[in-house]
Amino acid sequence: MPVKKVQREVQTSDMRHTSVLAVDLGGTNIRVAIVGEDGVIKEKVKESTGSAPLKILKDLIDNFHRPDINAIGIAVAGVLNNAKTGVFKSPNISSIEGIDLREFVRKETGISKVVIENDANAAALGEAWLGAGREYKHFVLMTLGTGIGGGVVCNSMLAPIAAEIGHMTIVANGDACLCGNVGCLELYASGRAIVDRAIQGIMAGTDTRLRSCCEGNAYKVSPEIIYEMALDGDAFSRELLKDAGRYLGIGIANIINIFSPQAIILAGGLTGMWNIYVQEAIKEAQKRAFKELFDSVKIIPSQLGDDGGLIGAARLALING
Ligand SMILES: [Zn+2]
Repeated sequence: MPVKKVQREVQTSDMRHTSVLAVDLGGTNIRVAIVGEDGVIKEKVKESTGSAPLKILKDLIDNFHRPDINAIGIAVAGVLNNAKTGVFKSPNISSIEGIDLREFVRKETGISKVVIENDANAAALGEAWLGAGREYKHFVLMTLGTGIGGGVVCNSMLAPIAAEIGHMTIVANGDACLCGNVGCLELYASGRAIVDRAIQGIMAGTDTRLRSCCEGNAYKVSPEIIYEMALDGDAFSRELLKDAGRYLGIGIANIINIFSPQAIILAGGLTGMWNIYVQEAIKEAQKRAFKELFDSVKIIPSQLGDDGGLIGAARLALING
């Protein structure tokens, strides 16, 4: 017994010096970071994903080749294959579909411990470890950005499920989605959906100040500009955000009724529009979910923001690497 104890102490002491490489491979940016075992990001770089994401990933990883790194965690935007070696579907980075990402990174780095997870799942794990999820055993994380993603933590563990919340059907015969379905939540409540509807409105001649705020170029409209205009009294912008919020609220009501989580943690750029978009979603969810379940869920913002995926990926590498 005493021998075992000494061995354990040695392992703990060794772990203090462990660093892992964390990667967040998203549709817009690729982020790579060195993360300590305490979850502190020591160094971080970011590059646009562009049209050759694997080349960029290789270059970024090469910059971080250090002898003390012994595992790599990768958070990727897409639906993972069963073996968790890559994604079979990634609407925003279709060039990596079907590629054995784990083998690619192993070959490039010579590091065999490579763990891959969906980016929103990784963000949920990050929040559970060091963010807004620390106080909750059961929660659902939603990423609200260009698209909508999800991750589920149950009994303090990341549920090994796809959790593609953005692709739950909200409108039975709705618009066509890149995933192959029609009427998906993210076609009505995501940043891209809000911008698409703004552009349609401007083109159709709707009376809105959005027309003049982008030097006459409707394609320059962003969710941030729409929010700014909405706060400044533009009725069309306000209605766009409330409408998206109502669809989000339908999705949240479904999540509450299915998972009865203690918390729903909202991450991503659209949470910056909390006062109109998220408030409307909460109102809608309250109308639709079981009262008892709604009353026992906290709907709160994430604490890790953009770093959630990286920190979750690091956690995976530390646990499973
Ligand atoms: Zn879809």
